[in-house]
Amino acid sequence: MRYQRSSALFTEAKKYIPGGVNSPVRAFKAVGGEPIFIKHAKGAYLTDEDDNEYIDYIASWGPLLFGHAYAPVLNAVIEKAKKGTSFGIPTEIETKLAQLAVKMVPNIDKIRFVNSGTEACMSAVRLARGYTGRDKIIKFAGCYHGHSDSFLIQAGSGAVTFGSPNSPGVTQGTAKDTLLANYNDLAGVKQLVAANKGEIAAIILEPVAGNMGCIIPKDDFIHGLRELCTQEGILLLFDEVMTGFRLAAGGAQEALGIDADIVMFGKVIGGGLPVGAFAARAEIMAHLAPEGPVYQAGTLSGNPLAMSAGLAMLTEIDEKPEVFTSLAAKTEYLHKGIESVLTKRGITHQINRFGSMISVHFCDQPVTDFASSALGNNDRFKAYFHGLLDQGVYLPPSAFESYFLNDAISYQDLDKTIEAVEKCKL
Ligand code: PMP
Repeated sequence: MRYQRSSALFTEAKKYIPGGVNSPVRAFKAVGGEPIFIKHAKGAYLTDEDDNEYIDYIASWGPLLFGHAYAPVLNAVIEKAKKGTSFGIPTEIETKLAQLAVKMVPNIDKIRFVNSGTEACMSAVRLARGYTGRDKIIKFAGCYHGHSDSFLIQAGSGAVTFGSPNSPGVTQGTAKDTLLANYNDLAGVKQLVAANKGEIAAIILEPVAGNMGCIIPKDDFIHGLRELCTQEGILLLFDEVMTGFRLAAGGAQEALGIDADIVMFGKVIGGGLPVGAFAARAEIMAHLAPEGPVYQAGTLSGNPLAMSAGLAMLTEIDEKPEVFTSLAAKTEYLHKGIESVLTKRGITHQINRFGSMISVHFCDQPVTDFASSALGNNDRFKAYFHGLLDQGVYLPPSAFESYFLNDAISYQDLDKTIEAVEKCKL
C-alpha cells in the first residue's frame, strides 16, 4: 500500500495529539483521506515515510523560497547551533537581520522579532490600538491573520476549511471590536468607517490574499484603502506573512507600490525556522516596550538559530533578486499549462496568480473575494488534490490555500505537474 507507514503513524499520532496534527489543515480533513508523514526533503522534493517522492508546492506554507534544505540556510543554522541555542540576552545577529530587513522593505525604520505570524499580527494590532488610542479594527472576510482571538472572525484558511470561521472561545467582548468587510469592496469599508467615525484603530489585510485561494487586490480598492486610512487617522496594516520577501524583496508594498503603516512578517523571514516580525516607522515603533508603553515580549524572540536562518535567507534574496523573476516565470508557466489542460478537458475553472502565488478554483465566476472563492466545486477539488498526490505532486490540502512555488522546482517538474493534471480523474 502506497501510504502504509504514513497511515500507521497517523493512527499513533491521533492517540496523543488532537486530530493527530499540530495545525488543522495538515489533517487532510478538507480533502478526505489521511495525511502523509514526511521523512525528509531536499530542493523541490518531499519524501514521505513510505519513500514516495513529491514535487512540493507548499514550501512549508511559504518560507522556503529556494527549496528544502537550502545549503546557505542549513549551514548558517548548524554553525550557530554549535555556539549555544538560546540565551534570552541580546545577540548581534538580531541587529544584523533587523538592519537587512529595514534595508530591503520600503517605509520601515524599526522591526521587532517574534516567533510566528500569529504573534506578529496580534502584536501589531495592539501597537495600532496603543498608538491611536482607538479600539476597533476592520478585517476582511476570508483573510487569515493567525489564530489570536481578534482575528478568528470570518477567518480564512484552516478556520474556514473546518467550517469554524468564528471559533468558540472567542468572547463577544473581543468579537465586537473586529468589524468585517469584503475583500475588494472599498465602498463597504467606507460605510464601516463612516458608521464608526474616530473609533477605528486599524484596517488589516493580506495585500495579496492567500487564505481564500490567491486573490489579487483591485487597484482602486488597495489605493482607496491607503487614502481612506490617511484621511481618517487609521493605520493601514499589511499582513505580509505570506507576501513578505516572496512577491518582491520589499514584499507587497514594493510589488503594489503602496506604503502601509505597520507591516507584519512570518514565513520567508525565518527561512523555515519559527520567526515572525512586525515593523513600522520609528515614530510608531517608539510606542513599543521598553521604549514606550505598549507591552510585547518573548522568551525565544530573536532566537539565534531562527535569526541565523532568517539572515541567511534574506542575504540570499538580497544578493539574488533575480529569484523573483525566475519564480514568477515558473508560476506563469504552470498557470498556462494547467489552464490549457483543463480547458482542453472542458473543466470549468479559474486560476489566480500573483508572483509565485497561484490557486486553481473549480468555478465559472472570477474569484475576487471570500464569497466567490467559496463557490468552488469542492468534490472536484478533492479529486484533483488526491489525483495529483497519487502521482507525486503535493498541493495545499484545501481549496482555500494558495500554492507557494520554490525556485528549486525545475521546468521538468512543472511539465510533470501539468501532465499529472492531464491524467488525473476529475
Ligand atoms: N497571516 C497570514 C497572511 C498567514 O498566511 C498566516 C499563516 N498561514 C498567519 C498570519 C499566521 O502565521 P503563523 O501560522 O506563523 O502563526
